[in-house]
Amino acid sequence: MTSSLGTTSPNRREHARDRAVRAAVAQGLLSAAEPVVALLDTTGIRASAAALTSAFAAVTDAPVLHAFAVKAAPLVPVLRLLYEAGLGAEVASPGELALARAAGVPPSRTVLDSPAKTRDELRQALTLGIAVNADNFQELDRLDALVALVHGTTAVPAIGLRVNPQVGAGAIGALSTATATSKFGVALRDEGAREAVVQAYLDRPWLTRLHTHTGSQGVPLPLMAEGVGAAHALAEEINERAGRRQIDTLDIGGGLPVNFASDEDTPDYATYVRQLAATVPGLFDGRYALVTEFGRSLLAKHGTILARVEYTKTSGGRPIAVTHAGVQLATRTVYAPESWPLRILAYDAEGRPRRGEPPVVQDVAGPACFAGDLLATGRALPPLRPGDVVAVPDTGAYYFAHHYAYNSLPRPAVYGFTPTDEGGVAFSTVRRAQTVEQIVAESGGDRPDALSS
Ligand SMILES: *Cc1c(COP(=O)(O)O)cnc(C)c1O
Repeated sequence: MTSSLGTTSPNRREHARDRAVRAAVAQGLLSAAEPVVALLDTTGIRASAAALTSAFAAVTDAPVLHAFAVKAAPLVPVLRLLYEAGLGAEVASPGELALARAAGVPPSRTVLDSPAKTRDELRQALTLGIAVNADNFQELDRLDALVALVHGTTAVPAIGLRVNPQVGAGAIGALSTATATSKFGVALRDEGAREAVVQAYLDRPWLTRLHTHTGSQGVPLPLMAEGVGAAHALAEEINERAGRRQIDTLDIGGGLPVNFASDEDTPDYATYVRQLAATVPGLFDGRYALVTEFGRSLLAKHGTILARVEYTKTSGGRPIAVTHAGVQLATRTVYAPESWPLRILAYDAEGRPRRGEPPVVQDVAGPACFAGDLLATGRALPPLRPGDVVAVPDTGAYYFAHHYAYNSLPRPAVYGFTPTDEGGVAFSTVRRAQTVEQIVAESGGDRPDALSS
């Protein structure tokens, strides 16, 4: 679908990005006063949403709710855009739920996960009619009381249990949800656990969903599909033991890995759907409604950080460009550079690509006051100069939307961009930059005497 539209092809992406960088500089979005901003490719986000929905629609007639994992890009206009594109929201905290509601995502298209839901959060979700996935048996015990409480007052709540099929780790330990000792869900292969899960369903006729989320960056597709297969097999077993189709919905999670090395969408949703169909025959036969919870793969490729180079220097013979983008925006990359390498693209002060010059091996540093604040080390790039612009693509998920307040550096503005009919670029403000006044106010500035005698 998307390839025929050509909307997510690497060439289109590069072209659109180049034009947006040029326009962001020309229109004064990026300036000496605002030396770092973030851009979102609105057309690209729409294309990814369409690629996701069409990949599943091509293989199943079952109802599928694609609940965007809000944590990947917690920005209200993004949630609204995705909702308008037919998606819902997966939320994991009161804040994320509030963002989804502010975006107008209705309860019927919202799913609450989280390993630490309080009683009040659970009660609110059930009262609103939001689907809930319990993480563990203690949470199911809490739900017993709450389900009785809301019984008859709202529509039948959609409640599931999250299981960890323990299929193993991917390449990044901290993001591997399905290891033997992961903190998420009921560990299905632990002694007695499977039987306990089956019994929990038999004891609770209102437990009608089953949830697993086994993918993430670094997890190969066959392993993800194996996790979904384990959940599907368990649902079949529970329904058989119950003598009815008690579980009517499988929530298969998100976690499609993203290619951070080029502008290609690899793997794409159609590839994952093929992998699922091959590994889990029956998943798409229409007997189960499906929920998905993709985050990173919907947004990552559509975000770009732009930062001005403030100074250049050499240290120990190594050229270093000091920019305004560092740990505050690319926290994972700075703290775990081996797991989270990002590309760096060089533009001149007018926002024109600096291509074709002999590259120089250099470091690209951020503005924070610690030595490790580096976006890239030993990277061959055109020789960067003060005033140049560096672009950091693939940062639309878990980067600039996840500000880290080191050095009280402000959250940058986020702008969505679309091409205009006249061949230009139109920007709209998704999030304003945080002001210095806001930083002070959010840092106890309204109570300077709090600790004085
Ligand atoms: C983080 C998370 C997701 C989304 O993962 P991505 O890697 O961003 O696709 C989905 N479901 C749950 C339960 C999560 O914790």
